[in-house]
Amino acid sequence: MKNIYGIYGASGFGKEILPLVKEQFGSESKIVFVDDGDVPNKLFGYDILNFSQFINLEGQKKVTIAIANSKIREKLTLKCFENGVEIFDAKASNVVILENVHMGEGSILCPFVTLTSEITIGKSFQANIYSYVAHNCVIGDYVTFAPAVKCNGNIHIDDHVYIGTGVIIHQGKPNKPLKIGKGAVIAAGSVVTKSVPAGMTVFGNPAIEFTKENIKRRM
Ligand code: UDP
Repeated sequence: MKNIYGIYGASGFGKEILPLVKEQFGSESKIVFVDDGDVPNKLFGYDILNFSQFINLEGQKKVTIAIANSKIREKLTLKCFENGVEIFDAKASNVVILENVHMGEGSILCPFVTLTSEITIGKSFQANIYSYVAHNCVIGDYVTFAPAVKCNGNIHIDDHVYIGTGVIIHQGKPNKPLKIGKGAVIAAGSVVTKSVPAGMTVFGNPAIEFTKENIKRRM
């Protein structure tokens, strides 16, 4: 019986992940989208099923969660485990991974992503196109990189952090890593020069807290 590979999320990110899944597993498997929203029943000719339709398919079922919102990813990961559905990693063929990189399950690594050396990453990491992680970084669970995030050396990123398109995070020091706290959000185009507390949204160059006063000050 064929393996069935589900791409959870038939929206923007799901569309981008389909070619990766086709390239990795296409010849040996059936590919479908899984989506619980109000969506059509086909995307690029592939069936879109809701979760109950998906789990009722005959065969070994696995999914990758192609949704940028980390809280939704966490919720759907748990739902998959509860229903005996495995999570698989999706990875473009031109991803570069150098030395001593450890990563939890459920990652999605898009085209041109590079992970260099001495890197530990938790589960359900998403790195969108052209992002990189340099040496001696520690990244938590459910972290999301939009396209072209430049995460330099000695940076620690906690769980559920979202990093917007084109962000540059300055390197930390071996004995004093730059830290981005749990649930922080870094707005697109920011340049992060110092640690960001948990839960804070920052923007700009150098990145500062996203408040009305700070926005006015920068205009
Ligand atoms: N979605 C889902 N189950 C959920 C939450 C979201 O199937 O519990 C689907 C939702 O219907 C939508 C997709 O996930 O089609 C998320 O799409 P969105 O454009 O918000 O995110 P992106 O593709 O940019 O990550």
